[in-house]
Amino acid sequence: MRSLFFEDVNRLGWRDIPAPKVEANHEVLVSTIAASCCYVDTMIISGNSPFEPPFALGHESVARVIDKGDAVEGLEIGDIVSVPYHRTCGVCPSCVAKNPLNCHEKEVPIFATYGMPDGSDFGGMFSESYRVPYASHALVKIPASVDPLAAVAAGDTLSDAWNTTVPHIRNKPDARVLITSNAGFGLYAAQWALAAGAQQVTYVDDDPLRLSVAKDIGAETLTWSDDLEVPPVYDVIINERQGEKSLRFCLLAGAYGAVVENVVIYLEDVSIPIEAMHYTGVTLRSSFSPTRNFLPEVIADLEAGMINPRAIESEVIHLEDAPERLVLPSHKPLIIFDKTVLKEASRDLAG
Ligand SMILES: [Zn+2]
Ligand SMILES: [Zn+2]
Repeated sequence: MRSLFFEDVNRLGWRDIPAPKVEANHEVLVSTIAASCCYVDTMIISGNSPFEPPFALGHESVARVIDKGDAVEGLEIGDIVSVPYHRTCGVCPSCVAKNPLNCHEKEVPIFATYGMPDGSDFGGMFSESYRVPYASHALVKIPASVDPLAAVAAGDTLSDAWNTTVPHIRNKPDARVLITSNAGFGLYAAQWALAAGAQQVTYVDDDPLRLSVAKDIGAETLTWSDDLEVPPVYDVIINERQGEKSLRFCLLAGAYGAVVENVVIYLEDVSIPIEAMHYTGVTLRSSFSPTRNFLPEVIADLEAGMINPRAIESEVIHLEDAPERLVLPSHKPLIIFDKTVLKEASRDLAG
């Protein structure tokens, strides 16, 4: 089967590798319907990660169950599922305590994830098929009324964007929200924040295309520059923009008691304005996303039509073109493995 490998900095390639099979009674085998990129893939591809090539890439996809072990319950062959980017057993003390990124199950290494070298052989999601362990717990079914392509990022960025906005705004419905971005995550966050009823959503970026998408979905926009300043009026702030200055900008934009969610992976320490934060009582959370914890709520909100994530798509990519196209900037490309899902989708593969 085909699997897209990170071969070297800015070089990707399809490899023909043996098709995976169910190896344990708790596993399922899924075939990929569609996959997408998150900023972590961009970091890996451009050489800005600790990971040495080669390895199978991809950790964001929607898939179909094509085989299952004897102990798998609640899933049938043919079910369309969202697969969290992180693997989780569901029964170890960490998973029970809702800390799935610290899963202690021995067969699932700490922070086990697809598409990055983690000492396992589960591979990447830019593959025609892959195995999912502890599938009864890990997988969340996508209802027939939800466009599978709308849920392509539900296992990663779409849910992380939900988690950094919706619960905060439900606690404070008149919240003002500030989002700094330079990828697709920030646009998802803007969609969720607006749909959750935020009083104001300000989206900050320096890319004209993403700024126009943000405007189209109803956000106010500001063009990023290193000396940009805003008044400290924001209650919920999401930093998704690479660089130390963006984090500082966010931490200084908080109203009293604000929450700042940092989703940027800084590869070295950065300084924070702790004195100003102390006076405003700003809470900073910086974390990978324990996506499985809130994936069912995200799918339910998609089913309720709360947002249309497809408004964020930047392009639809043929498999043949993926190695060349994925090294180019594109905030939310969609890579289609199963063209039958395009029958009812709003876009086709023209171009
Ligand atoms: Zn990701
Ligand atoms: Zn676990």
